[in-house]
Amino acid sequence: MPWSTARAALERVLSTPASDVSIDLSGGEPLLNSATLRRAVRFVETYRAAPALVRTTVTTNGTRLTARLLSFLFEHGLTVRISFDGVPAAQRERGGDTFRTLDRLLDRLRTRDPADFARHVTIHMTVLGSTISWLADGVEYLLAKGVRRIEVGSRSTFDPDFRASSRGELDRQVDRILLLSVEHWRRTGEIPVVFLAGPPLQRAGAPVRDLLCAAPIGRALGVDTEGRAWGCALFASSLRSLPPWAAEAARALDLGGISAPSFPRRLAALPRRAGTLRIFTDRLAKRSSYGACAECRFVADCHVCPAAICHIPGNCDPDLVPDFICAFNYVTLAARERFDEMTGGEVSAAWCGEMKAALARLEAVVKELSAGTAARPTGGPERDHA
Ligand code: SF4
Repeated sequence: MPWSTARAALERVLSTPASDVSIDLSGGEPLLNSATLRRAVRFVETYRAAPALVRTTVTTNGTRLTARLLSFLFEHGLTVRISFDGVPAAQRERGGDTFRTLDRLLDRLRTRDPADFARHVTIHMTVLGSTISWLADGVEYLLAKGVRRIEVGSRSTFDPDFRASSRGELDRQVDRILLLSVEHWRRTGEIPVVFLAGPPLQRAGAPVRDLLCAAPIGRALGVDTEGRAWGCALFASSLRSLPPWAAEAARALDLGGISAPSFPRRLAALPRRAGTLRIFTDRLAKRSSYGACAECRFVADCHVCPAAICHIPGNCDPDLVPDFICAFNYVTLAARERFDEMTGGEVSAAWCGEMKAALARLEAVVKELSAGTAARPTGGPERDHA
């Protein structure tokens, strides 16, 4: 992405009135263009003088992370999210022969910059139908490496390798992760596996949001390398080949050029265009082969990506959830529930405490900004320190 495009995108995002903005610099591989990445990071800092309100993440395969670049990213407070599936067999399925490179990288980071490693590094594991049986080994390996934040997600498109028999194996793997995590928590007081550390689960009968995600309301914008914006990057037809059925959703989410004068108007019209497409709505009408979401005890906490619905081969039913996503969500939410029970409710209590503290901090910053005692956004062409 050329710098002029990156800057236009950042200006748009940073000039929103939102008090809390998350920016994810991802690809492809964003480190292939580290010059633009560096300029973007400096620009964000300069544009908003209240960096606590802007969280920037770079998502990378990790193979191009040099010591200099890492120092830069840590120094500027970025989260470095490395896609890494743990043990060599699982990593080979997705990332070629990169296990040794990433294994050495984690060792180097932990030894040289232990504080930055703990604070800024997240490992993102993607489970495929073909790698389920290595999932717990992967988490065990990352815990042993001292990783403090481990995200685990299922493949977001359809996975032909997930079969009826895969569910039992997924259950066993998540069970093992649960036991490893309880043991780890007792030893260290930490919960690195993100799906276990989330907010307390909603009670049965809690209200369920009708929308599946933030894409149709313009709260999850993606921008491609040409500067074209989308309600969600997963529907960007310029970035990936989409199944024919996704075309209608992609058209609705297409916001055109990020710096075009018509952009604000198209963004304002987005909920009207996309918010009525059934693929994004009617959460309670969704179902998988395992059952109806309306009857599932986890429906208020379960996140289903509409893009995954489009990728089911031959599917024309906007309410049909891929079985892999349903199974993954169910077993991980059930594990979170059990983790909380096994730790005597301390985890959800701690989570609530942390959230309250974070909200109080946010309120204080917003108050300062409104009173003019903290610096306001100062961005603009002349502030570009590139
Ligand atoms: S776990 Fe499955 S059945 Fe339950 S709400 Fe999620 S997708 Fe629906």
